[in-house]
Amino acid sequence: MAKVLLVLYPDPVDGYPPAYARDSIPVIDAYPNGQTLPTPSAIDFTPGELLGSVSGELGLRRFLEAAGHTLVVTSDKDGPDSEFERELVDADVVISQPFWPAYLTPERIAKATRLALAITAGIGSDHVDLATAIERGITVAEVTYSNSIGVAEHTVMQVLALVRDYLPQYRIVVEGGWNIADAVQRSYDLEGMDVGVFAAGRIGRAVIERLAPFGVRLHYTDRYRLPDEVEQRYGLTFHDDIRSLVRGIDVLTVHAPLTDETRGLLDDDLLSTMRRGSYIVNPARGAIADRDAIVRALESGRLAGYAGDVWYPQPAPPDHPWRFMPHHGMTPHTSGTSLPSQARYAAGTREILECHLEGRPIRPEYLIVEGGAYAGTGAHSYAKKD
Ligand code: NAD
Repeated sequence: MAKVLLVLYPDPVDGYPPAYARDSIPVIDAYPNGQTLPTPSAIDFTPGELLGSVSGELGLRRFLEAAGHTLVVTSDKDGPDSEFERELVDADVVISQPFWPAYLTPERIAKATRLALAITAGIGSDHVDLATAIERGITVAEVTYSNSIGVAEHTVMQVLALVRDYLPQYRIVVEGGWNIADAVQRSYDLEGMDVGVFAAGRIGRAVIERLAPFGVRLHYTDRYRLPDEVEQRYGLTFHDDIRSLVRGIDVLTVHAPLTDETRGLLDDDLLSTMRRGSYIVNPARGAIADRDAIVRALESGRLAGYAGDVWYPQPAPPDHPWRFMPHHGMTPHTSGTSLPSQARYAAGTREILECHLEGRPIRPEYLIVEGGAYAGTGAHSYAKKD
């Protein structure tokens, strides 16, 4: 019987809502590339309710305990005395969400002698040291596509919020003011701008599709070029690398995984090559940006705005400089954990668990690492490209 260790973000400060804002979540039949939605044998939760916080338990307890497995749920994940680190020593499966990542460092993996499977309830498995998982033969899987469209929507929202300078205008209203000149002195139209998309995978491509109707000129780079027909449909200009991409754009959106190749990529040097007054929206991973370089670029005016929802570390400490830098539109890591996304990644987590516990293969699109090597989506998006 397996011990499953589930790390989730804390419950709402005032407890679970007595009622939700809406009675249901939108129905989706399939993902845009035809991939099917998660297919667990059943679900024991109500879609549309909070599942990603501790009491929601991703709806997994009844199913696991009925089969004789043990489920431990905690939000206490950091430091050697954390419940996570204590429970890890005899856990067979670890599940955590990128929004509240249980960092599986080499040191922690060394203590987790029974660990066979690390599931990301969501997308993005960089909180697991993948090289060590490969060495140890640990399977790493995530719920591919579960929240990609939500992240793309969040990206578009933040691009518009930055370019139009929405947040200060909202603040003026809330504070009882009406000075229009104050409100518009940094307000621009997106129409006519050059927008660059760094990595056109599931999220990047959805951003391209959603921004195309805004009358922008679209540019992108990725290790793999999109089909000609897609480039033509959206009038895309392909760039060989990010250096070429950022030189001639007004807005950069970032959608690559965090790897050795992308860590710290948005540094002083790269930012200095961007047009003065550019905007960046990064919902990929905080550590793709050099934290202090972003602050400097906002202070100098090289950047006119920075937004996204990903930080390093997470949760971001109260004194993280991105909370205080000028002209930012940051949110906590929320874009991928809307209530509909939670329902999909909870169901996908159960599908992965059922496969693992019953000895059936996990879908290749969910796999990042398996059998001592990158596999499935991991082989495409995380492994070094020769
Ligand atoms: P994906 O696997 O569909 O696409 C990733 C793309 O990045 C691929 O096309 C790949 O070729 C490209 N890529 C990888 N390394 C590159 C490099 N060095 N240079 C150029 N291109 C490179 O993944 P996705 O579903 O689009 O998600 C992308 C990332 O977004 C995830 O890895 C995760 O870190 C992040 N994410 C964030 C949230 C959130 O809530 N903010 C939610 C989901 C995913």
